[in-house]
Amino acid sequence: MSQALDILQNTFGYEDFRSNQKAIVDGVIAGRDVFVLMPTGGGKSLCYQIPALVREGVAIVISPLIALMQDQVDALQQHGVRAAYLNSSLSFQEQQNVLGALHRQALDLLYIAPERLVTSAMFDHLLQARISLFAIDEAHCVSQWGHDFRKEYQQLSILRERFPHVPRIALTATADQRTREEIIAQLGLQNAEVYISSFDRPNIRYLIEEASTNARESLWRFIQREHPEDAGIVYCLSRKKVESVAEFLTKKGQTALPYHAGMSAELRQHHQQRFLREEGVIIVATIAFGMGIDKPNVRFVAHLSLPKNIESYYQETGRAGRDGKPANAWMSYGLQDVILLRQMLENSDAADIFKRVTQHKLQSLLGLCELVNCRRQTLLAYFDETLAEPCGNCDNCLHPPKTYDATTNAQKALSCIYRTEQRFGVTYIIDVLRGKSNERMIHNGHDRLTTYGIGDDVAPAEWRSLFRQLIAMGYVHVDVEYGSLKLADSARSLLRGETLFMARIIEKIKAGKIKKEKLHKLRSFDQELREALRQCRNGLADEQGVPPYMIFHDSTLDEMARMRPTNNEAFLQLSGIGQFKLDKYGKEFLKVIAENPIPDVLQNRLSDTINETLSLFLETESVEKVAETRGLKNTTIYSHLAEAIACDLLSLDRVIDLSGEKITEIKNAADMFDFAEGAPIKPIYEALDESYEYGILRCVLATMGRVS
Ligand code: ADP
Ligand code: ZN
Repeated sequence: MSQALDILQNTFGYEDFRSNQKAIVDGVIAGRDVFVLMPTGGGKSLCYQIPALVREGVAIVISPLIALMQDQVDALQQHGVRAAYLNSSLSFQEQQNVLGALHRQALDLLYIAPERLVTSAMFDHLLQARISLFAIDEAHCVSQWGHDFRKEYQQLSILRERFPHVPRIALTATADQRTREEIIAQLGLQNAEVYISSFDRPNIRYLIEEASTNARESLWRFIQREHPEDAGIVYCLSRKKVESVAEFLTKKGQTALPYHAGMSAELRQHHQQRFLREEGVIIVATIAFGMGIDKPNVRFVAHLSLPKNIESYYQETGRAGRDGKPANAWMSYGLQDVILLRQMLENSDAADIFKRVTQHKLQSLLGLCELVNCRRQTLLAYFDETLAEPCGNCDNCLHPPKTYDATTNAQKALSCIYRTEQRFGVTYIIDVLRGKSNERMIHNGHDRLTTYGIGDDVAPAEWRSLFRQLIAMGYVHVDVEYGSLKLADSARSLLRGETLFMARIIEKIKAGKIKKEKLHKLRSFDQELREALRQCRNGLADEQGVPPYMIFHDSTLDEMARMRPTNNEAFLQLSGIGQFKLDKYGKEFLKVIAENPIPDVLQNRLSDTINETLSLFLETESVEKVAETRGLKNTTIYSHLAEAIACDLLSLDRVIDLSGEKITEIKNAADMFDFAEGAPIKPIYEALDESYEYGILRCVLATMGRVS
């Protein structure tokens, strides 16, 4: 076995490398430069952590995320890896200790902030140490185009000059072509091996809703419906909105914490820590939050305002479901968002070319929102990736939107904009269309226009939706300063009736609820053990002051509850458990497993689904209730129970309420027919004048040792 695979399995506890990981790891181990583009949650960390353990010396990891270094180092230490970090949060003495360890060759990985790395003092230290590799994390920070720009990153090309024989691996999840080229140029990676992974995140379900008048309420409904107990991130555009939404959710009983640049660094750090360490915390944030957050079990990311562009949308939603389990990316957006974003853009003092690029990106984002076919296909296409089939896991795939021919209404809207001389905003134009009479209208003489009142058959909300679609599709521009609507050139063909305008019908899109079984795949009788394991884990996490997932991911606990390992060997088989974690925690968790055995009656050779029914039936004593809980038919439940009866796990009278006479009648009828296993039951059913349900017959037959 290769050393890299050995480390993957025994140190990190994972069975196989994912997609490009092996090639990347091999490249770095061989001493080559590598450039890695992988979506969030794809598994970038292992790409440098494993080579760090294989190659001699210490790996230097450059990361802009000081606040998260400790977590990363803690996580590595949980695997028994010798890791440390150097940044301004450490005291002088602590820094000396780390440097001491560096020179004693007692470190495998050292995380350093970029501003520290480029100091001459640090260079002196590094030149004396033996360095295995440089990992440049969040490499897109070299790009001036992105919002994460760090000027120190631009000095990192010096690494190649000063350490020509040390391989460098640059990693990012930011996909656009321009940023990619800039990273390669700035860091001098022209000769690097380039690995680009698929950007698809199949476990994330994309849902984009048209904002109702009260977006917060829609958010609340979404959370209530799908994520009442889950951790999630809610993004808002402004600090004020962050505060008010956090307060709103708190009033509703959620643990919701604000996070934005206007708060003190300590409070921000505190909220981030709570989000990482506690379960079910919702962070309400501006985009200042999230880079480098590697909490694996964020179950949803919600956008209450439009993100800046598709890259941001992808990056932000990518923070959901890193553990590969189902997660939701939900967004609500409306006309106001579009106008606000356009205004922010125009008012910024950015250079013209920058504005144009940004405009174009905004347009693509609006396109994504208004789309009537698969969101994932469009998203991936934006990153130059082709998805052959619609994904089946986005709102448009799950509930194909209805459209209608809105050409006439669109023409009315456009000509109304024209007749009012392109000087008014949406609300006023709708008033004209609906024939509203007020002083302003009369003063302007607009009650005498031919378009006055021609749209009173259409509700205001519907008009707003239509205007939003007209703006999104570029038929109408919004004047930045005054919010007045202007016709674009393309409006002409629509007015002349040369183009058809198909509009989405507004309707509440009901997101398919993520089934909890899908999340956990746990049998009901595993739940108790799962809960005991969770408490054990959280207790340990508290003691050590680390987030629970650093000890074991939720998915590892699920697997544990389901597989119920009874010895070290079986424990090691679980995903995410290596030798170090086995030694550290195995005993304690094995004890919890031993203390929560499967109930005796369920220790049998029947299948899982039958045992699930049996377990629920023993709890509820009602066939109907079990059928409802499981979403199965009564007859199916009866036939499951019949098997349990045949194995003497259940007595007949617990399942059916029939007199002895009637039972005898059924048995007699059964005796008249062939008794063979699996023989059709229909003749018996008919012989008894169809007076007993099939399910009941099955259960009685089961007492005679017959299962059909
Ligand atoms: P990224 O930095 O690319 O966003 P991470 O390195 O944090 O992603 O990895 C995301 C998650 O996937 C982590 O929980 C990690 O432990 C897990 N992971 C990475 N590689 C593998 C693998 N080969 N097998 C199983 N899980 C993996
Ligand atoms: Zn789809």
